[in-house]
Amino acid sequence: MTLTSNSRRKIVIVGGNSAGLRVANQIFRMMRWPNVTIVEPSTSHVYEPLLPWLAAGLATPEEVSKPLADVLPKQINWARQGLKKLDPKKKVVILESGREIPFEFLVWADGLVPNWKKSMKGVDALVGENGICHTLDLENARATQKMVNSFEGGKVVFAMMSQLKGEEAAQRFLFLLDDVLRKKGLRDKSSFHFVAIRPDLFPSTKIREKLEAIAKQKGVELHFNHGFKSIDADKRTIVFDQLNEKGKASGETLELDYDLLHVTPALIPPEPLNKAKLAARTGDSKGLMAVDQHTLQHKKQKYYFGIGDALALPIPRVDAAAEGQAPIVAYNLLATLKGKGPGTFKKYDGHASVSLSSANKQALLTGFDYENEQVAVSMGSEEEGYLSWLKSRYINPWMYWRKAAKGQL
Ligand SMILES: Cc1cc2nc3c(=O)[nH]c(=O)nc-3n(C[C@H](O)[C@H](O)[C@H](O)COP(=O)(O)OP(=O)(O)OC[C@H]3O[C@@H](n4cnc5c(N)ncnc54)[C@H](O)[C@@H]3O)c2cc1C
Repeated sequence: MTLTSNSRRKIVIVGGNSAGLRVANQIFRMMRWPNVTIVEPSTSHVYEPLLPWLAAGLATPEEVSKPLADVLPKQINWARQGLKKLDPKKKVVILESGREIPFEFLVWADGLVPNWKKSMKGVDALVGENGICHTLDLENARATQKMVNSFEGGKVVFAMMSQLKGEEAAQRFLFLLDDVLRKKGLRDKSSFHFVAIRPDLFPSTKIREKLEAIAKQKGVELHFNHGFKSIDADKRTIVFDQLNEKGKASGETLELDYDLLHVTPALIPPEPLNKAKLAARTGDSKGLMAVDQHTLQHKKQKYYFGIGDALALPIPRVDAAAEGQAPIVAYNLLATLKGKGPGTFKKYDGHASVSLSSANKQALLTGFDYENEQVAVSMGSEEEGYLSWLKSRYINPWMYWRKAAKGQL
């Protein structure tokens, strides 16, 4: 579908990382002279799947990040600030400076942000020192790399307190670090503990069993259903509460000493979505954007669409999902702009894939959709293998940046 917009009706995209850029590219491909503004405070664009590789010293910052200006479509308006508020009645977004941008259509692509206060209170102030690190952004992945380079063996603890996103990222860093330490002859001098708030390593049963077997074979101690309780950075000790079936502290605790502590706090949607009353109110998806899972249009507001990690969808939050969603969102938004209804919309089936590194040069690749917890992925296998590694480490990033530079994501 190609549309000409004579009236130049204004589309605002909130968030300009992978999901925001993908949908912007699709809109520019489907529509002549669209009037699109992207609201994004960051000046760099990050290919997040490579962050754990960077942290382990197995990728360069240039492979992971490029200036956003180099990948944005040339005709797009870029508001280089964060969104502070959305006024749905006036149909304006209000930026941090107070500047107002009116919109007719809004695409929500602002991902998830760490919530330290609720999940790991006080730990954010300690990150970067005393052996405490995370790999959720470029700056911290680089700082982690320095810690890895100077690490001489010892107790490594992974505290995975996010339920919504990041399992595969924390595991990837764990297995890559395991490999790096083996190559340096330091693994025998090290112990690995992976402590998760989740009840398992991965939602899909078959993959979970494989991953847990690989972890055990590599000498990783797994502790599930544990929430963060406290930390003593001077003594380098972290304490977790064992959780009961209701997710509450059972009274039992797990205390671990560490020399290197990798943390993943809870990841939640940024505040403006909740304030604008666009979020799901109950259940596991509480706080995430309430869209129809097939059309990706807001359940109540027809001028609002969503894409990427910010959505209340029953699938893992991965870039491969945003890739599948972008053409659907662009098509359905443009159909709405032409006055068409959901009967004419394209439908997203929940398809995406995720790569699970089990070592440097070894990975498992699995796909899923709304109906199936496992579907086959081209050039990948659910068994550990070199090809899946090659795809996730080199082919996917290469294709991402190549397409991004050409506006073809
Ligand atoms: C360490 C790590 C490893 C990963 N590994 C994989 C992997 O192997 N495979 C895979 O498919 N996926 C992986 N992912 C997930 C994948 O990167 C995301 O699913 C994908 O990038 C889509 O994200 P997004 O654009 O929705 O959100 P994000 O990438 O989080 O982008 C959101 C953007 O919104 C902006 N923003 C936030 N608040 C505001 C505001 N108030 N106003 C304006 N802008 C705002 C942010 O600055 C950011 O640029 C990984 C993620 C991480 C962090």
